[in-house]
Amino acid sequence: MYKKIITLLMLVVITCCGCGKKESEPTTTDLNLITSRGEIHVGVKTDTYPFGYLDEKGHFAGYDAALARLIARGILGSDKKVKFIPVTASDRMMKLYSGDIDMIIATMSITPKRQEILDFSVPYYTAGQALLVRKGSSVKTLQDLNKKRAIIVFGSTSERSLKMAVPGVGVIGYKTYIDAFNALKKGKADAIVSDDTILLGLALKDDSVELLPKRYSKEPYAVAFRKGPESKTLINAVNNIIKIETKNGNLKKIQESYGIK
Ligand code: GLU
Repeated sequence: MYKKIITLLMLVVITCCGCGKKESEPTTTDLNLITSRGEIHVGVKTDTYPFGYLDEKGHFAGYDAALARLIARGILGSDKKVKFIPVTASDRMMKLYSGDIDMIIATMSITPKRQEILDFSVPYYTAGQALLVRKGSSVKTLQDLNKKRAIIVFGSTSERSLKMAVPGVGVIGYKTYIDAFNALKKGKADAIVSDDTILLGLALKDDSVELLPKRYSKEPYAVAFRKGPESKTLINAVNNIIKIETKNGNLKKIQESYGIK
């Protein structure tokens, strides 16, 4: 699944950006497009509390949504000038390259493989891969998953890393974290492998599961953009906003409000 998406997107990037050719000055930039539209279109998740979720009124909420509002304020002068478009781990890159969204803010880690087809901002958070298991499970570490079954979400970093770390594991994939969580609770597999922050969000208010203490990776979250000269000024603007909002303590305050500092 992940490989197919990467190959498809590589083709899009090569066709759109003329890979290998010298970059020429773009006639319109993504930043121009946003300023003339007067609204930023941001891909945010709805299944990853406390990063991207819908609150009780059905409004986009979470740290990723809050960052999107700060970016809208920094670029367009108002945190209202943002349109949220729901994405999942497996469709976020497609929605970016189809032009449905200007950027992805969706618990997305910078990885060397993704950097071949995407550009990233500076990181705004760092998570780590971990295991969520049913309480009392005999699975205590990643290696205990050998000859057992584990759940991943399609398009996530653990879809790739789990099979490499534990070749003997049976991998079951789901499209959303909600489906993944329900499957774990129903006993379809022994663990979910994903970012600690997302797993904690799932486990909140549910004492039939537990997040194991060991971390298996560093997952630097960043805003993702289409690769190419058109996105350069937009990335610079977003990087500046992240730096300013880090320095003035706003990002820290948002993290604290969600208990993820
Ligand atoms: N941070 C990981 C990733 O970018 C897992 C979270 C997610 O599914 O978005 O794949």
